[in-house]
Amino acid sequence: MFATLSDRLADAFKNLRGKGRLSEADIDATAREIRIALLEADVALPVVKDFVAAVKERARGEEVSGALNPAQQIVKIVNEELVNILGGETRRLRYAKSGPTVIMLAGLQGAGKTTLAAKLAHWLKEQGKTPMLVAADLQRPNAVTQLQVNGERAGVPVFAPQPGNGVGDPVEVARQSIEEAKRKLHDVVIVDTAGRLGVDAEMMARAASIRDAVQPDEILFVVDAMIGQDAVTTAQAFLDGVGYDGVVLTKLDGDARGGAALSIASITGKPVMFASAGEKVTDFDVFHPDRMASRILD
Ligand code: GDP
Repeated sequence: MFATLSDRLADAFKNLRGKGRLSEADIDATAREIRIALLEADVALPVVKDFVAAVKERARGEEVSGALNPAQQIVKIVNEELVNILGGETRRLRYAKSGPTVIMLAGLQGAGKTTLAAKLAHWLKEQGKTPMLVAADLQRPNAVTQLQVNGERAGVPVFAPQPGNGVGDPVEVARQSIEEAKRKLHDVVIVDTAGRLGVDAEMMARAASIRDAVQPDEILFVVDAMIGQDAVTTAQAFLDGVGYDGVVLTKLDGDARGGAALSIASITGKPVMFASAGEKVTDFDVFHPDRMASRILD
């Protein structure tokens, strides 16, 4: 993913090579190229506008530094602006001061929540935590089994509905899971919730009820980076309907243009915290805006 963006930005910088000093016309031409590169990569229009305006303003005001030629200067500015739209500093998970840290996952069906739940659990285990997964997605017939299979792969126990613990009621299952985590001394609880194929009021209301029942320390919005501009509208709908603290981009191994996913942090003001790029439990990492920006500009 992001190959289009990388290539197009590289093209935008080409004309600056060998220039001693940038004229107003050079800056305008480059800004135009950057605008096209971002739009072609599917970056959301308001983000593109702000981005290009910031680059232009900074390129005009930039002191001529001894170390960098004008072309390098522009690449540096673009790099810093990319880091900005991706949320700035790496945003780490915030753990609860006492009792289990509760992480709730929200997102559309097919976004990759169940897969992500196991990946996150596996990653937490590697950090020395003792996580527990919670199957509160009772909409999709196979979701509980899928989480159990994934949990087993990650070597993490799964709390699932049983006769007597609120079968059929995801809010009750979620509530009981917190009690169970306290009894069994799990320090992190990851609650997987049900999504629908599209944004839907009932889904939002249910997710909000689970949120109120488990009082999450972190709500993560999980989004398939392959879905293009819909990623941005869905992100906004979940922000309004459920609210969240951070974003997880999934399917970054796909070949979509990906710019829409890169726009989410800027549009919602919520940082991308994790990235998932594959179906294996280890295809997962903390998202570092600076590393992603450097990779795009490599
Ligand atoms: P949920 O409905 O949100 O729980 O989504 P799932 O976890 O069931 O994922 C939907 C599909 O996407 C499954 O076939 C997963 O194997 C696949 N999937 C999830 N994450 C990734 C990823 O990072 N890369 C790829 N290629 N496929 C993924």
